[in-house]
Amino acid sequence: MNRDNQLTRLRQTAAWDIIIIGGGASGLGTAIDAATRGYKTLLVEAVDFAKGTSSRSTKLVHGGVRYLEQGDISLVREALKERGLMAKNASHLVKNQSFVIPNYTWWGGYFYTIGLTIYDWLSGKLSLGSSSYISRKKTIELLPSVEQKGLVSGVIYHDGQFDDARLAVNMAQTAVENGACLVNYVKVVHLLKDRAGKVNGVVVEDQETKESFEIKAKVVINATGVFTNEILKMNNPEQQKTIVPSQGIHLVFDKSFLPSENALMVPKTSDGRVLFAVPWHDKVVVGTTDTLIKKESLEPIALEDEIKFVLETAQQYLAKKPTRADVLSVFAGLRPLAAPKSEGKSTKEVSRSHKVLVSKTGLISITGGKWTTYRKMAEEIIDKAIEVHNLPAKSCQTETVAIHGNKATSDSDRQNHLYVYGTDMNEIIALTKQEPALAEKLHPSYPYTLAEVVWAIRFEMARTIDDILSRRVRLLFLDARAALESAEKVATLLANELGHNEEWIESQLADFEVLANGYLLKEFQSQRSINICKTS
Ligand SMILES: Cc1cc2nc3c(=O)[nH]c(=O)nc-3n(C[C@H](O)[C@H](O)[C@H](O)COP(=O)(O)OP(=O)(O)OC[C@H]3O[C@@H](n4cnc5c(N)ncnc54)[C@H](O)[C@@H]3O)c2cc1C
Repeated sequence: MNRDNQLTRLRQTAAWDIIIIGGGASGLGTAIDAATRGYKTLLVEAVDFAKGTSSRSTKLVHGGVRYLEQGDISLVREALKERGLMAKNASHLVKNQSFVIPNYTWWGGYFYTIGLTIYDWLSGKLSLGSSSYISRKKTIELLPSVEQKGLVSGVIYHDGQFDDARLAVNMAQTAVENGACLVNYVKVVHLLKDRAGKVNGVVVEDQETKESFEIKAKVVINATGVFTNEILKMNNPEQQKTIVPSQGIHLVFDKSFLPSENALMVPKTSDGRVLFAVPWHDKVVVGTTDTLIKKESLEPIALEDEIKFVLETAQQYLAKKPTRADVLSVFAGLRPLAAPKSEGKSTKEVSRSHKVLVSKTGLISITGGKWTTYRKMAEEIIDKAIEVHNLPAKSCQTETVAIHGNKATSDSDRQNHLYVYGTDMNEIIALTKQEPALAEKLHPSYPYTLAEVVWAIRFEMARTIDDILSRRVRLLFLDARAALESAEKVATLLANELGHNEEWIESQLADFEVLANGYLLKEFQSQRSINICKTS
């Protein structure tokens, strides 16, 4: 997957069947669906694949226990089927994760056991394991760091867990391998329309060279997540808002706060939401919140109230109480929620199910949804495109399409951190043998090597320090300070591989410092970048 080759294809193709705007879960899934049905497909992403919400999830492949409680059975059933397909088609990245709910009331154990038995039953043959009631003693055995004061019992259940941005990168590779053209750092700035007012293409701007192109297509699909309204406004300046962004944050802590293979699930926090503490890449990710936000942004910043809430809830359920000084990274993401029809509805009541909208101009937009259901959403979008635009009908193939890196036999060995590369793991080992200098670690405290950085530049279309440290190796999300300390090595490798000069390195480092500060709590932010922000 090489950007120059993809750009050349983009320039040399006179017209496409389908253009997809946005390279998050929804857009990438749609590109795979369209390409595997045989349509000439182009996807353009304004920044990097999964730069938006799709790198900022709780990393769960789940039916949504919460939606079951809300009685949304069809959403849960659909997501559970998709969970099973994702575990089969991207087995290198999706794993079976056991969750323990600690109960502090006599009735909690029975109540959640019944609910989760229904959850198992809805997943049918694709179940990841049965749920069961467990004693207080067993709960402590499975979650040694759980708060024991007042603990009565527990419930254990199973769901999936994954690496969201790595899956996005592998999905982009899968789409390319199936004939689609995908380019990052290419932004749609206008929609083109024919004389009848139907959308028949886009104007894009290459964000690296600032060059613009007109590109024609039979179908244009808007898969821009929280930026959906912007594209709808290009389509019709009178357009009302169809989505509202709702922010969720996560705090990342050292594994010692949850020294277990089991995740902890709190079904009802003090404000009635769900909170997870999930082991991820040898750390613990705790979240999330649900806060309506006025303005969408590519780098949303966690609010102090949200940080306080997650920290206090974690302190309530963990025996080793995390403090602000223990936060290794904080990341925020925006849910593209369908705008509620009635005023005053709270975010937790707004449906998480997706909607496919067709504008009078023929533009197709996808709103809402979950990572887990990306494949099903993509299938519906392309079915709609066939129906509305009279494309030659071809049936969906993706239930059986393996994602790049998928291993035919699932091997559970996750001891080597390179497991996330799946079938590419041996290629990275071979690269290190060919160029032994690349065996050097990126940071003394982490296993990531320079070979992974070079791999990401050569084969995964990484262009910036952020692309590498946020979405190829996930260091910014796991430990923001360590990511800052690794930035210079990454910048030097990028400059060598892509032919940039010293000035480019300096400006990349300055940009990354500002960005990484958003992942640190304010009292631990790097002072130099605060000064850069003040002067710029
Ligand atoms: C806090 C949080 C936790 C979540 N946890 C889970 C979970 O555990 N499991 C789960 O299943 N789901 C989860 N979700 C939901 C899931 O992450 C989202 O539904 C999904 O990532 C949305 O993907 P998307 O492609 O629609 O949007 P995005 O990932 O935001 O992608 C949109 C892309 O469009 C690009 N774009 C915008 N404008 C343009 C333009 N003009 N030209 C070109 N490109 C453009 C952006 O750069 C962006 O990359 C969570 C969501 C949040 C916020």
